[in-house]
Amino acid sequence: MRGIIEKIDNNKFTIIDDENIKKEITIKQTKKAKKDYGITMEDVKEGFKIEFDENTSPQIGTYYISKILENNSKPQKKNISVQEVKERLAKATTKKDDNEKSCKHRYAYNFISYNEDIKRTKRVMGENTGTISIVVETLTPTSVEEFGTDNYVIQGSSLKGVIRNLIEAVSNSCFKHFKEEKYKEFGGQLDFKNSFPKILNACNTFNNTCYACNIFGTTDIIEKKEVNNNIKDINRAQSSKLFFSDAVIIENKKVQRKILKPLLTPHAELNKYYFKDGKIAGRKIYFHHSDKIGKNMQISEGLFEPRKKDVNSEAFVLDTGSKLKFNIEYKSLTDIEFGMLLYVLGYNNDKFMYKIGRGKPLGMGSVKFNIDNIISVKDKYASFNIKKTKENYSDKINIFLKEFSYIQNSIIKEVEETLTKKIDFKNGSYNRQNNTGIKIKQLPDILDMYY
Ligand SMILES: [Zn+2]
Repeated sequence: MRGIIEKIDNNKFTIIDDENIKKEITIKQTKKAKKDYGITMEDVKEGFKIEFDENTSPQIGTYYISKILENNSKPQKKNISVQEVKERLAKATTKKDDNEKSCKHRYAYNFISYNEDIKRTKRVMGENTGTISIVVETLTPTSVEEFGTDNYVIQGSSLKGVIRNLIEAVSNSCFKHFKEEKYKEFGGQLDFKNSFPKILNACNTFNNTCYACNIFGTTDIIEKKEVNNNIKDINRAQSSKLFFSDAVIIENKKVQRKILKPLLTPHAELNKYYFKDGKIAGRKIYFHHSDKIGKNMQISEGLFEPRKKDVNSEAFVLDTGSKLKFNIEYKSLTDIEFGMLLYVLGYNNDKFMYKIGRGKPLGMGSVKFNIDNIISVKDKYASFNIKKTKENYSDKINIFLKEFSYIQNSIIKEVEETLTKKIDFKNGSYNRQNNTGIKIKQLPDILDMYY
């Protein structure tokens, strides 16, 4: 939406909009808008043509200016040099714990570290093929998708995403979803080339792929091929060894359409990755909220709102204490890969909790996975309907842990901590004042520039 400012009288602006309609409005220019667009109220003069940003809502009378389209002196976005970024980072990371009270950055998520020594191998087809059945138990209200009439599921693709993220972390795999181009907009100032180690780039060569790409496949493989005497890049894919069904509700099917409170991460894409010592800090993973766990939709505070505004999104929400069931079909996994899968599914740790669906920063979507049954193709042939005992597969987990002993006490431990800890976010994820035992990495001040 655009308009020309005809008159300014204190906070009252008379504008003529695109459709030549004269309106008297109050323009609110927030700190955020000021940072994002570099425009203050003093910059706006009568006669200027302006553009309003997407948060502008004429119904509730709030207008934010995002652009001055015609004026004499164009405002400049603050230019930050890479040197300045580094200085700010250095300052941010030297803050001490006793400074906690004054530190305003306490977020609903953690960043799992990585090691630049990524293991890439030729993909091997292993002996482990079969089906794992899992019962999902919702510990908090959890968003589900509508599937047909009055029927709801957690989509297999969501479940797959959760498991892939965890496998990427515990196997120290590539950052498949990090695309330099996508994050360039991050202020336009940060030096991504140097802050994102090249080794973390999505695997793109056959016979040299990380564990996650070996298990889940990838579509990023590029092969050089000669076409009419020219060498051309041909895009190839590597198939997945895992297939996820949707999770269907089997117990307590109470689903309601709800309006979610605005999420606490205004720029989810931007702050997905931040920097530590000048490098990307890690992989984002959400904490579980102790103040939400075990509470149902009716008594859970801080999740829903009665009325919808521009900043709210809606979701179908399945209540706490529901059960769903899904299957993972696995095919040709090596022992290391199978052990890794069982490990992240909590085969040996019944304290693991996972975050699924929408509203994660608010505390929604905490669930438990209970492995109901594992039937391998071999067992099927050897003896019908054998239910495996824990010991049978623990050896696979040990094979995985041995292979990844170089990160077992660091990265794998961090994952384990984040999957098991519950943190009290009652007072919001900002300004959390209690040290709950987990060291939440600090979000450098630099991100302030972009909120
Ligand atoms: Zn990879």
